[in-house]
Amino acid sequence: TQYVYRFGGGVSEGKAGDKNLLGGKGANLAEMASIGLPVPPGLTISTEMCIRYYEEGERFPDELRQQVAAGIAHIEGVTGKKFGDASDPLLVSVRSGARVSMPGMMDTVLNLGLNDQTVEGLAAASGDARFAWDSYRRFIQMYSDVVLGVDHYLFEEALEIRKEDKGLLLDTELAAEDWQALVGVYKKKVEEALGHPFPQDVNDQLWGAVGAVFGSWQSERAKVYRRINDISDAWGTAVNVQAMVFGNMGDTSATGVAFTRDPSKGDRAYYGEFLINAQGEDVVAGIRTPQYLTKAAREAAGAKPLSMEEAMPDVYAELARVFDLLETHYRDMQDIEFTVQQGKLWMLQTRSGKRTAKAALKIAIDMANEGLITEEEAIARVDPAALDQLLHPTLDPAAQRDVIAKGLPASPGAASGVVVFDADHAEKRAAAGEDVILVRVETSPEDIHGMHAARGILTARGGMTSHAAVVARGMGRPCVSGAGSLAIDGKAGVMRVAGREVREGDVITIDGASGEVMMGRVPTVQPELAGDFGTLMVWADKVRRLKVRANAETPLDARTARDFGAEGIGLCRTEHMFFDANRITAVRQMILAEDEAGRRAALDRLLPEQRKDFTELFDIMAGLPVTIRLLDPPLHEFLPHEEEEFAEVAAAAGVAVDVLKRRAAELHEVNPMLGHRGCRLGVTYPEIYEMQARAIFEAAVDVAEKSGAAPLPEVMVPLVATRRELELMKAVIDRTAEAVFAEKGRRVDYLVGTMIELPRAALMAGEIAEVGAFFSFGTNDLTQTALGVSRDDASRFLTSYVEQGIYPKDPFVSLDVEGVGELISIAKERGRKTRADLKLGICGEHGGDPASIAFCQATGLDYVSCSPYRVPIARLAAAQAAL
Ligand code: PEP
Ligand code: MG
Repeated sequence: TQYVYRFGGGVSEGKAGDKNLLGGKGANLAEMASIGLPVPPGLTISTEMCIRYYEEGERFPDELRQQVAAGIAHIEGVTGKKFGDASDPLLVSVRSGARVSMPGMMDTVLNLGLNDQTVEGLAAASGDARFAWDSYRRFIQMYSDVVLGVDHYLFEEALEIRKEDKGLLLDTELAAEDWQALVGVYKKKVEEALGHPFPQDVNDQLWGAVGAVFGSWQSERAKVYRRINDISDAWGTAVNVQAMVFGNMGDTSATGVAFTRDPSKGDRAYYGEFLINAQGEDVVAGIRTPQYLTKAAREAAGAKPLSMEEAMPDVYAELARVFDLLETHYRDMQDIEFTVQQGKLWMLQTRSGKRTAKAALKIAIDMANEGLITEEEAIARVDPAALDQLLHPTLDPAAQRDVIAKGLPASPGAASGVVVFDADHAEKRAAAGEDVILVRVETSPEDIHGMHAARGILTARGGMTSHAAVVARGMGRPCVSGAGSLAIDGKAGVMRVAGREVREGDVITIDGASGEVMMGRVPTVQPELAGDFGTLMVWADKVRRLKVRANAETPLDARTARDFGAEGIGLCRTEHMFFDANRITAVRQMILAEDEAGRRAALDRLLPEQRKDFTELFDIMAGLPVTIRLLDPPLHEFLPHEEEEFAEVAAAAGVAVDVLKRRAAELHEVNPMLGHRGCRLGVTYPEIYEMQARAIFEAAVDVAEKSGAAPLPEVMVPLVATRRELELMKAVIDRTAEAVFAEKGRRVDYLVGTMIELPRAALMAGEIAEVGAFFSFGTNDLTQTALGVSRDDASRFLTSYVEQGIYPKDPFVSLDVEGVGELISIAKERGRKTRADLKLGICGEHGGDPASIAFCQATGLDYVSCSPYRVPIARLAAAQAAL
């Protein structure tokens, strides 16, 4: 079997596509060599060998030893130097290279091949004794650390002592004899630590290094990194052995790293740093301040030390030519490492460069416009989740942060304002022109007005689908939820955290993208939605098959959704309309009524208000489908629970305080999520759904009459478990529709369907589809009920669950494809068997999650519905899923 692949000097036994076999670094070195770029000759030991190495008890087969020897001979042939030669020795680097890059996880050894003899040869051949002894001590240091496990602190200490003795500050001030003396000290330290001398045989050195690189694949930190990043333990790493080139051979030598475009803004400009007379690790180590690559960048930064463009114009021109060549060849922005040895450029690495969301967007669009990639490729190259960063103001990355707590990143964007602990105060202070952050232990529907008035929302309790999180996302307000370290005393107007006190009126900043809570005002930068962003959306819409709707109930949300390109409303949660200050009294009178007649009287007062809501929505969504969900939450949510509120509410509703209290007690539920909610309300109090249906149809007929653009109402019944429930509710809706149409002398088309948010409903979908014309998967409740995990309390333990790999991600954020996904597939199969044109959508929070959207596409749903600010993300994710 071939385990060793050679490159350089006109030979190239691999190519860029061989990453699985040669690792990313090895494959790209081979590719660069094959397109004629200056790559120091070398060999790559394949990942297959790494796997075999572990299978066979960590030993090297003879076959490998022979192939490596042949590979070394290849390097010797190209360089004209011999490995271990006492007069002009070949030195090599030994580096790891896995299939995907694992920054900082794996080991590297440079300058390998130096010993007490070859160092003299290197000094003689290079004519630079200082360089030779410096290289030797670097090698001992690195090799001892990486291969022999000797603490590098020992060496640093010796170096410091030497500098102090000689009254020197910088490493560069040390002379050849200093380094030579230090080599002696270093070797003694190694021998003391290990009980045997530093290896002098260059082949022993080589095999030690290869073993260490293979060994680093199984290091604890590499294992942890793989687990976090979904990298398989079985892939193994390759090893690259390559002739050394030296950036530390005087002032015509240098080493650097570069990106072919700006990785933070995406501009088409070379971007990078280099150091004259230095070796690779000096740039990374931050001991010296690197210099700019281009003159423009140096001038923009107002920096003094000359750029590479100015200091080494010829090599720079060559480098720029290589950048362009690599970008055209790989058709992507490249991240490059290079070394200049005495005026000659050498390429050490290239790979696709990591970039910010903003740069990803700009580079993708620019490259498509330049004709380098297709529109489809541009679509595929932007991470939809990262788009989120672009849709909201974000923290200025350069700003100072004083982080006091961390919660869940519940709704993206950054916001600053004064701390306010109460929704009414929040509304008042906001009306007076202040920026407010509403801080609550948790929010309830009664806080909506305060949330709306606030710039951002912070809670101590609650997960990613808690009330605060869902509502904040819907409103496009930044939100940090479940920041458990906050001790909030709203009554006293203070919260305590990490030994500090934050009082009402103090300014804080929250970052809903990271979950961080900071003291003071941290500056933000505004998003840009036209330009590249708009272009990407147009391209995405051309290829996607899934429709994208929004979850919205207020006119503001509905308009935002349309601006972001929503193709209708997939979920209008009507209960949010019930909490409106003007209506809550009528709602409470309805709940407090002793009989149906009393309830109807109160509902009659609500009817015109609901009709107005729907009229507005239908107007905004002219000609598009609007899914309206009938009342879902249990009635006691609308009643007060704080003692001091009872009197006020009782007076407003015109009942005695004790009557109100008795009714509240009667309605109290131990487990409201599984209680008297959803269609169970409609079954017991059909007049509520009847009022809502009437409001929907009256509004629909009115809008159709006025505008001619007939709205497409889809009336949705929540929390259905059985066919009979839906049948009963559909009868109420149909009967009401007929009555309205008869009164108005005009009909509109409409559909009646159901949410699928209980496992039983998914299993009985065949029967339920006999009644309902559409299903919308309410995956918040479906996840809660399928997993038996409370959506409001889960944050306390779900983090541990994810850390221990029980669920790959928070199942309330990214659909549990295996379990909940199976229920959705079953419901789809059984539902469509009954009714071939059954319309299928999803309206849980997962409707805006890219991985869940891919599942929806694969399962054959018709649309996804998500909060307005996620609509662009969903459009892009749906396009990617369709590619
Ligand atoms: C759901 O359960 O997924 C859903 C959309 O309804 P809600 O979040 O209002 O319960
Ligand atoms: Mg639900």
